Amino acid sequence: MNRITKIAGLIIGSLLLVVITKTILNKPVLENQNVSLTALPTDAIKHMTEAIQIATETPNDAFEYDSAVFYSYRKLIEKNYPLVHQQLSRTVIDSFNYIYKWQGTDTTKLPMVLMAHYDVVPVESSAIKLWHAKPYGGEVKDNYIWGRGVLDDKSSMISLLEATEAQLKAGFIPSQTIYLCFGADEESNGRGAAAMVKYFESKKQRFDMVVDEGGEISTEDNKNIRQPIASVGVGEKGYVTLVLSVQRAGGHSSIPEKSSSIGILSKALHTIEENQIPTRITPPIKAYLERISSYNTNFFEKMQLSNLWLFEKWVLHNMTQNRSSNALVRTTLVPTVVNSGVRDNVIPTFATAMVNSRILPGETPNSVKAYVEKIVNDTNVKISIYPNYETMPSTTTEINSAAFKRVESAIHAVVKDVLVAPMLMVGATDSRNYRTLSDGVINFTPLTDAKGYHGIDERMLISDYEKCFNYYTFLIKGSK
Ligand SMILES: [Zn+2]
Repeated sequence: MNRITKIAGLIIGSLLLVVITKTILNKPVLENQNVSLTALPTDAIKHMTEAIQIATETPNDAFEYDSAVFYSYRKLIEKNYPLVHQQLSRTVIDSFNYIYKWQGTDTTKLPMVLMAHYDVVPVESSAIKLWHAKPYGGEVKDNYIWGRGVLDDKSSMISLLEATEAQLKAGFIPSQTIYLCFGADEESNGRGAAAMVKYFESKKQRFDMVVDEGGEISTEDNKNIRQPIASVGVGEKGYVTLVLSVQRAGGHSSIPEKSSSIGILSKALHTIEENQIPTRITPPIKAYLERISSYNTNFFEKMQLSNLWLFEKWVLHNMTQNRSSNALVRTTLVPTVVNSGVRDNVIPTFATAMVNSRILPGETPNSVKAYVEKIVNDTNVKISIYPNYETMPSTTTEINSAAFKRVESAIHAVVKDVLVAPMLMVGATDSRNYRTLSDGVINFTPLTDAKGYHGIDERMLISDYEKCFNYYTFLIKGSK
């Protein structure tokens, strides 16, 4: 054996030793405590079904509220939660968004916000026949409560009100001031949440923690992990839509030019699909992989995840094989609208398309535009940012922050043997507005493998309702 082979062998040997040692030492910290949940208050299920029966469908425009419906929902909440309305002060923002203030005894502590929204997405009339319960019937069967909005997001709002009412009844007084904030248009434009944040900004109010919907518990498809996984949202991707437009001479289809507006646009869209923005691991996903790796029962997978310094490329490649995990490691690009043509014998002058992008932390709407311009590389294709709605990726909440730890403890208090991991939210929630007011914004509700969001058969396990009630109770009591 010559010297070079010897040295190479030594290097490979030591690498192997490091990789295997890191894998073996990466042991899960099992929090194997007993979970004992307080039963739901007597009328809690009735209250939830009543809330579902009022179809608070989200307005497309702030001026299109069905006021009668939103008023009757307000009356229902006032009736079902009398102590909340006697002892907390309520500020109404823009007609139907509510801020309840539960004054704490210690004004030196920063307050916390527990938030939810109560508008719901409309039920598609053509899909009603596919439901196994009336969408606004508030039916209770097979251990579920059924109906539009029961998950998204009346589960949070009603559980939170139940927990508050129960604590008021028990005479609990928080030392930290608690705000309950309820939005009425999260599913459309989220102006209510933005207006509530403006209100707090005008009072120079900051918060140590803000908890909103978002992350949940999954027990299904946890590949090679036996524990339930609680994915706690610590940040949100950004959002931008690019408009691609091509203009050509057009004319009679019997004498076409070499290239048409549709042809040029199609080529650009194909190029985008074939040249996605490269993948990378952002800090929240790195923290997520570190957390879950120790619980992985497959040695080789665990070895890769425990040694990202060596296997990062490999791990990234595997994550792109599934569309959910792919969305966690790259800024996505997807065509969503195409417009062109009026008749089969007319070559259209214009062809336009929209490409929607969800942006990883570290990139911006402008950097996405620059990337697309570069790969399309065709002066015939004009690319602009669709002006209606664009957002930067949010800042992310640290997993060693007090806010994350408090939510983590609350999750351990309601779910046995659960693995708590941070997560990057691929969609947007109302809480993004609060990031200017708090470093502790968290997205989590303890719903388990929840089904029917925005679709048919939206339903919540009654046992999940109990978990949500206990989760908010824990967070409220932690404010002492
Ligand atoms: Zn929602």
